[in-house]
Amino acid sequence: MTGAATRIMKFGGTSLGSAARIFGACQIIVRGKQDGPVVVVVSAMGETTDVLVRAAHAATHGGGVGWPSLAASLESEHLLCGRSLTSGQEAEQLRLTLLKHGKTLRDFCEGISLRGMVSAQELDAISSLGELMAADLVAAALRAQGLAAEPVDAARLIVTDDHFGQAAPLLAQSQEEIRSTLRPMLADGIIPVVTGFRSRTVEGQCTTLGRGGSDYTATILGSLLPADEIWIWTDVDGVMTADPRLVPHAHLIPELSYREALELAFFGAKVLHPNSMELPHRYGVPVRIRNTMAPDGEGTTIAPGVRNAPGVRAIAHTSDARLFTVGGSDGVSFTRVATSVLGVLDDERVPTLMVTQSSADNVFCFAVDGQHGQRMGDHLERIRAVDLNASGLGSIEETPQVGIVVVVGEAMRGTPGIAARLFGALAERQINVVAISQGSSELSVSAAVGAADIKEAVMAIHQEFAL
Ligand code: ADP
Ligand code: ASP
Ligand code: MG
Repeated sequence: MTGAATRIMKFGGTSLGSAARIFGACQIIVRGKQDGPVVVVVSAMGETTDVLVRAAHAATHGGGVGWPSLAASLESEHLLCGRSLTSGQEAEQLRLTLLKHGKTLRDFCEGISLRGMVSAQELDAISSLGELMAADLVAAALRAQGLAAEPVDAARLIVTDDHFGQAAPLLAQSQEEIRSTLRPMLADGIIPVVTGFRSRTVEGQCTTLGRGGSDYTATILGSLLPADEIWIWTDVDGVMTADPRLVPHAHLIPELSYREALELAFFGAKVLHPNSMELPHRYGVPVRIRNTMAPDGEGTTIAPGVRNAPGVRAIAHTSDARLFTVGGSDGVSFTRVATSVLGVLDDERVPTLMVTQSSADNVFCFAVDGQHGQRMGDHLERIRAVDLNASGLGSIEETPQVGIVVVVGEAMRGTPGIAARLFGALAERQINVVAISQGSSELSVSAAVGAADIKEAVMAIHQEFAL
């Protein structure tokens, strides 16, 4: 490898949403390559992953209803894009590769429609086909601009456990694969264009790192290669004081500590995958979040030694959480109820957004992201029904459509009155608070409100803390 800094550059779905956007991303890569080796990580184009998931589910209904047209439109969209980014021999090679991925999708869907069901394993292989197509497109587009670039399937690089849909990387094996594959390519001046989101089990089955997982791919590669910096190129200027879709006047945060970024990602600031900050934090690799549409902006830097700014730094929110209030049967202790519930959460690998204990009762209350809500509810009912005595579970109450708003700031610790101001701002607007919780590290304070109130709650808190 050269002495120049090595960078990971990850591009999200919106940043690759059309031929013009892919061309823009390539310009950024071309410029980046002038400063040193670059490893590119790509998400699927635009909404491709959603469409692939929809096709797989449509296929379960049998009879070929729905999925063939979804597959055809994805294929033609990618082919069209390929035609406008390449020419000659390159274009023909790309066309054949994209058609091969289209055929893979059709083969999977035909099999699923015959069986009437899709396995978690198949869903991973299907939902990550968009990343394979995007890597082929971007590598071909870079070659068309005279750079040496090769697509790399991250299933070759990232080895995980077999928790399909939400796999966890096995670091030692992954490090070996990452180094032995990427280092020689970089030494030869080649730009590896790596598929985000995809990974594989030790046995070689395709897994994925969870929705939004390409950020995680970028930070796994950047931490284990290691790279000097990880740049996440997205559709906003960086990490903002709140989701700009909710608070249009939210502003850019130039610097964040790892712990603040970890907390924001965990509590739903979609700009970063929930697990993406752990490894850069552990290995001290700087992460920058930048805007593909305004590439000259400085973005947000998350790096060792970032000075803490005082008070609340940013607000994260989830508008689709589900709250569970689980009571123990008579005479069962709180700890037993909590153990049963936490066991289910652990088995299912579902993170809790909030946990509270209800007074002296044996009532355990927790919130999870809506995408896991149904599954959690079904599991809790099942263990209560199957083994009432062993689980100790009595009543299970579910409150769907809950919003959670979280204020985050490392230097909030020891600052009195933050919770009071948060709840004061909500009370002033007559927003009912369903549950509250504060991390013992005092890095965050959370309030659960009705989902319909979330926008007003975030706006009110943003104003209260003058962010
Ligand atoms: P990508 O496709 O690049 O991975 P995502 O849609 O996953 O992009 O993430 C970017 C989006 O995250 C933004 O468009 C924005 O709406 C949302 N977002 C939520 N919270 C924040 C925040 N605090 N700062 C910036 N963006 C945020
Ligand atoms: N394409 C995947 C998704 O939509 C991964 C990602 O975009 O990061 O979830
Ligand atoms: Mg994302």
